[in-house]
Amino acid sequence: MTFEKWLQSRLTAHGFPCGLIDGNISPVTIAALKAFEKAKGLKVDGVADPLVVEALRASSSTVPAAIAATLPPRDVAEGVAAPAAAQVWPRQKDCLSFYGPVGESQVRVTLPFEMKLAWDKGTRVRAMTLHSKVADSAERAFVRIAATYSEKERAELGIDLFGGSLNVRRMRGGSAYSMHSWGIAIDFDPKRNGLNTPFAKARLGQPDAVPFWEAWEAEGWVSLGRAWGRDAMHVQAARL
Ligand SMILES: [Zn+2]
Repeated sequence: MTFEKWLQSRLTAHGFPCGLIDGNISPVTIAALKAFEKAKGLKVDGVADPLVVEALRASSSTVPAAIAATLPPRDVAEGVAAPAAAQVWPRQKDCLSFYGPVGESQVRVTLPFEMKLAWDKGTRVRAMTLHSKVADSAERAFVRIAATYSEKERAELGIDLFGGSLNVRRMRGGSAYSMHSWGIAIDFDPKRNGLNTPFAKARLGQPDAVPFWEAWEAEGWVSLGRAWGRDAMHVQAARL
């Protein structure tokens, strides 16, 4: 199930009907989302942020369905939950001018699910360091991933294994900076997704990882595994 369909089915289950559960985030869905936010005392912005997802995951309440109809369609045309699709990141060669000097403008992004350090699984990771320009985008992708996969599925797939984000260094075998130098790349489960492992053989190259990559690609991020066939652990907010 896609995140969009999950969103619609949960809103409907909570008494805020979205019409068809078709994955199409129409004004009707946004109206239902806003009505749900209002009923729960959350910020009414039509954005499925972590608090909304958490509230939707809770068992359905007895809020009357009629509330969903209280917002006029015009009110909900703006503020769609996905500024994502329009997001275009710079090409790798333009990162310096777009993101600024390496290692700067970093913020902490809180994760909607707990990860572990890939090389020290006893260490829990609840936040990671990313460039301020990509932080909101990454958060949306993580929320979508959290809603798509159960904890067990995340563990099986290894997407709960954090392999690093910000790391100022040169690309392997080159003089150019790695995308990690700007805090615009994230690695997952490096052990099973080696730099030189063909994507088809990598754990994240398997079919059950497709929704994971789609969550990133919906935000304009690039999977090196899907785009280049190698380095399946890696996703970046820069085009090749
Ligand atoms: Zn990487």
